[in-house]
Amino acid sequence: MSHEHSENCIFCKIVSGQIPSKKVYEDEELFAFHDINPSAPIHFLIIPKRHFSNLMTATSADEALLGRMMTIAPRLALEQGCRPGDSGGFRVMINNGADGGQEVYHLHMHVMGGPRPWKKN
Ligand code: ADP
Repeated sequence: MSHEHSENCIFCKIVSGQIPSKKVYEDEELFAFHDINPSAPIHFLIIPKRHFSNLMTATSADEALLGRMMTIAPRLALEQGCRPGDSGGFRVMINNGADGGQEVYHLHMHVMGGPRPWKKN
C-alpha cells in the first residue's frame, strides 16, 4: 500500500509532471530534481518514482532500488558541479519521520555539495 502512487503526494506529482521541477535525472525507477529551497550551493533530491514514505516502510525487496540511489548519487553530484575527490565531495541525507525532520512523506535522498559555508551545516 505505502509503495503505491499517492494522490496527494507532492513528489508523486513532480514525477508525473503535474507539478514542475528542475529535473536533474530520470530513469525507469528513479527521478532527481533540484531542491526548491537549497541548503547548499548544489542541492538536489533523488527519489524513487514509486511512492513510499520513508525507510521505515522499506523492505528487503527495496534493497536494489535503495542501492541504486546510493550509487547514482556521486555520478549526479559530479555532473551538477560537486568537486571530485576527498577535497571536494558531497553530503547525502535521508530524513525519516517527524523525529528525523521529514516534511515530505515520499522517500527522498538529499544530495548537497559545493564550497562551504552552507546555509545548514
Ligand atoms: P526538510 O525540509 O526538513 O529537509 P525533508 O527531508 O522532508 O524535510 O525535505 C523536503 C525537501 O523538499 C525540502 O528540502 C524542500 O525544500 C523540498 N521541496 C519541497 N517542495 C518542493 C518542490 N516543489 N520542488 C523541489 N523541492 C521541494
